[in-house]
Amino acid sequence: MSRPLRISPIRRKVTRRFYEPLLLLHALSPIRGERIKSEIIPDDPESNHIQLRRSFTNTIAYICAYKKGPDHVTAAALEKTPQGVVVWLCANADVEDGVITFLERILACVHRVVEKDSMEDLHQEASLATQRLTSMIVDFQAPRLNVYRAEIIESCIVPCQKLMTDYLKNNGSADRDKNTLEVNNLQQWLREYFCDDNGESTVPSLLDLSKACYDIRHTQYLKTVSMFAGQGRTRHETFERLYKLLGKLGKPLKSSKILTEAATKLAQDFSQGFTVKTVPSSVSQHLPFRGKKEATLDRIVNRMFSDSSKKTEFMDRLRSLMSGEGEEIDSFLQRERDAKTRVHAELLLIDYFERNSCNFLAQGEKYIGCSKPACYLCHMYITLHPSRYTIPPSHNKVYIGWRPPDVYVGESGAFRLLQAQERILLRMIGLVRDELSSEIKSRNMRLPYHTDSTTGITTTLESMRLGETETPPVYAGGPEQSALSLLEPNEDVGLRTSEDEDDEGGVPI
Ligand SMILES: [Zn+2]
Repeated sequence: MSRPLRISPIRRKVTRRFYEPLLLLHALSPIRGERIKSEIIPDDPESNHIQLRRSFTNTIAYICAYKKGPDHVTAAALEKTPQGVVVWLCANADVEDGVITFLERILACVHRVVEKDSMEDLHQEASLATQRLTSMIVDFQAPRLNVYRAEIIESCIVPCQKLMTDYLKNNGSADRDKNTLEVNNLQQWLREYFCDDNGESTVPSLLDLSKACYDIRHTQYLKTVSMFAGQGRTRHETFERLYKLLGKLGKPLKSSKILTEAATKLAQDFSQGFTVKTVPSSVSQHLPFRGKKEATLDRIVNRMFSDSSKKTEFMDRLRSLMSGEGEEIDSFLQRERDAKTRVHAELLLIDYFERNSCNFLAQGEKYIGCSKPACYLCHMYITLHPSRYTIPPSHNKVYIGWRPPDVYVGESGAFRLLQAQERILLRMIGLVRDELSSEIKSRNMRLPYHTDSTTGITTTLESMRLGETETPPVYAGGPEQSALSLLEPNEDVGLRTSEDEDDEGGVPI
C-alpha cells in the first residue's frame, strides 16, 4: 500500500475529548481490571477446527515476536485467496526481513506435512516436523528465551532455593514426608538446569532447557512450584514468577506441536500452501494537544461536566484522594501529554482487512492473532468495531501512546472511514468517562500491575456487544451534547477471577 503524505486527523475536538479523560484515568489507575481471557468455544468437531485455526494464528504471531519489547509485538491473520493462504504479519514497528524468512521456512515445514497422502507418511512427517520446528523456533527466539533464563537465574533461584531449604529444615526428613521428597527433587532439577549450589550457572543448551521446561509442565515439579506460589506464602510472588517463566521457556515445543497438529487436521485449509505478506507499521505522532493549557485537570473536568454540582463533587473526591490539591496529577498529565502515539499491530491488520475487503480463512470468523493479549484500548476498539471481529484476550493496561488506525488526506473513502472511526471513538469516550467516574467513586487508587482487584470494563463491553444497536450514538457537536450517558456510574461491573495467564501470547502451556 503506498502511503499518502499526510494523515488526516479525526476531528480534533473528538480526539481531544478522547485523550483528556484517558490521561486522567491513566494517572489514577493504569490497570483497568482483570486480564480478560479468550472467548470460550463450545466443544464439538467444528469448534475444534475453529480453535485450532486460532491457536495456529496465535502461534505464528508468537514465534515471530522473537524479542521482548513493544516494537516486536506481532499480530497475524490468515487470508483465503485462490492461490492459497496468505499469512499477514504486522508488528508495532516494521516486520524485519529476518522474521519473514524465518516464517517462510516454518510454513514450508508445515506444508510438507500437509502434502503427505498416506496416514503413515503423515504421522512420520509430523513427528519429524515437530522436532525441526522446535529447533528452528528455539534458535530464532533465543533473544527472548535467554532473557527468561537470565531472569530465573538472577531473580528467582537464590530466594526460591533458600526458602525450599528452610522448608526442608522445618519439615523433617524425606522418609516421613512426601512433600519434602518432592521439594528435594525440584531443588535438584533447578540446580541441573539453572544454577548449582555455588551460584554458578549451568549451561544446558537452550533447546535442552526448553524441552525440559515443556516436559515438566504436568509433573510434580511444577505442582511443587505452584504450591510455594500459593496465596499468602512467603515469597509467593517469586515462585509465581518462576512458574510463569518456566512455562514461557517451554513454549517453543508447545508452539511446534500446535503447528504440526494444524498441518495434520487442517490439511484442506492449507492444501495450496502459504505466502507471507506484511502490513507496514504506523508513523509515530504526538497527542492532539496544542498549548500548555490543554489537558490540565481543570480543563478536563470542565469539559466532562456541564453540571457544576457534579463537577464539584468529582473534584472534591479527587482532592480527598490526592495530596497537593491535584498538583501531583497535573504534573503527571503534563508529562504524559508529551507521549507519542502509534497504531498497534492488531488494529493495523484489522484496518488492512477492512480497506481491502480480504476474506479470512475461516468463513464467518474474523480472527486476528497476536503475540500478546490486547491492551485496554485495542480490546475496547475491537469490541466496538461494527464488523464484529473476534474479541481478543486483554491484559487491560492503558497505554496513552495509542491511536486508532490512520486515515490519509485525499484517499478514496476518507470521509466514510473517518465517520466510522469517529463513531467508535465516541463510544470509547463514553466508556472511558464511565470508568473515570467509577474509579473516583471506588477510591481504589493506582492498582499495582497484575493485581487481583478490579473494577472491570469487561461486563460493560460484553453487554454492549450483546445488546448492540445498529445505530451507535453519534456526537452531535457542541461541548456537552454527546448522546452517551457520560457520567452514570457503571453499576454493571463484575469481578473476574484471577488467572495464571501468560501475557506474552495466546498459547497456554
Ligand atoms: Zn493495543
